[in-house]
Amino acid sequence: MPRRLAILGSTGSIGVQALDVVSRADPQQLQVVALSAASGWEHVVEQARALGVRRVALTDADAAARAGEAWTDGQVLSGSDGLVRLITECECDLVLNAIVGSAGLVPTVATLGEGLDLALANKESLVVGGELVMALAEATGATIIPVDSEHSALHQLLGAERPGTVDRLTLTASGGPFRGRTAAELERVTVAQALAHPTWAMGGKISIDSATLMNKGLEVIEAHHLFGMPYEQIDVVVHPQSIVHSLIGLCDGASLAHLGYPDMRVPISYALHYPERVDVPIAPLDLAALGALTFEPVDEETFACLGLARAAARAGGTAPCTLNAANEVAVHAFLAGRLAFLDIAAVIEETLTRLPATPVHSFESLGDADTRARAVAAELVAGRAEA
Ligand code: NAD
Ligand code: MG
Repeated sequence: MPRRLAILGSTGSIGVQALDVVSRADPQQLQVVALSAASGWEHVVEQARALGVRRVALTDADAAARAGEAWTDGQVLSGSDGLVRLITECECDLVLNAIVGSAGLVPTVATLGEGLDLALANKESLVVGGELVMALAEATGATIIPVDSEHSALHQLLGAERPGTVDRLTLTASGGPFRGRTAAELERVTVAQALAHPTWAMGGKISIDSATLMNKGLEVIEAHHLFGMPYEQIDVVVHPQSIVHSLIGLCDGASLAHLGYPDMRVPISYALHYPERVDVPIAPLDLAALGALTFEPVDEETFACLGLARAAARAGGTAPCTLNAANEVAVHAFLAGRLAFLDIAAVIEETLTRLPATPVHSFESLGDADTRARAVAAELVAGRAEA
């Protein structure tokens, strides 16, 4: 029997690469049974037709209505309730959550609540609701397999180690398009410059997160929850070539690294086939051709977002949710030309100051914290636009 997959965010960067991985797999191994996107209904319908999928969800109600008119071979579910129904009723074995932003939390919870295994690209789910999400997976017995390249590397490295032998996790960061720049040089950078990532081709939001280094801050929080490692034992090092995806440091002084060319089809394939491995058409790693792999410390003064993420992580409670929501608002404003690059960090810092952390008791309290933080961050963005 093939493994039945639901692919959420199928029209995005990860979603499209996941469908590429599936198209190369043996149909006896993987079968897509459900797809979802926010609003790009033509693309989803085209994917559904090509794959013989009978159920899709579009969270935008207008897009869902149009898809329903244009595509009569299957069922179109609408809105965020429709997305939850897609997950709970599609009788799949594995859900790939490749939605961007905290909108991915509800589908993560729906998946794990059903006891379904989750291939998780949506790191924001863990940033916002890490404790509750991990507890839910534990309670229902669902497995979370990370898709983020660093965390996929760590999952592979940690799999072979006995409990208690791992002292440190080290996440590598490319440094993004602005590595080596001073704050003064970052004052007038454009959206196009910020989107031009040196080693990875990704969606808009994560590309900006990589330019500010917020992406690495989110990933430190993601690693803490996935692998239960205290924050003091999670390091970040800049590695511009993006060949070493992460390292673990062991109690006997050995360090183990995971290497490969930067291509998200590798961690996607790992997550979709886990615990099996299958061929992915990637050239063998040629270290002699690469010549040198280099490493340098993070410039935390210029790239303040990493420190803000670490501080929110230490504060705990609603702070990581507030950090994430403010970041989403600020990045959106930057992409729309309404906020300067350096003001992304400033808006997040001020939002965290205005909304001190409170304990999290339920997913509802996270929803409230997310709404409050978005309102404060939007007000700060508007204030800066007027100034
Ligand atoms: P993207 O913007 O290219 O695609 C996002 C997908 O989510 C689209 O299909 C979109 O229709 C859907 N979507 C957007 N908003 C939604 C909403 N409110 N409700 C439901 N669906 C919605 O994003 P991406 O680059 O593919 O990233 C997806 C996730 O994977 C992010 O969390 C990102 O951090 C993570 N990730 C991406 C990469 C990468 O190489 N792109 C690498 C590591 C991790
Ligand atoms: Mg990553």
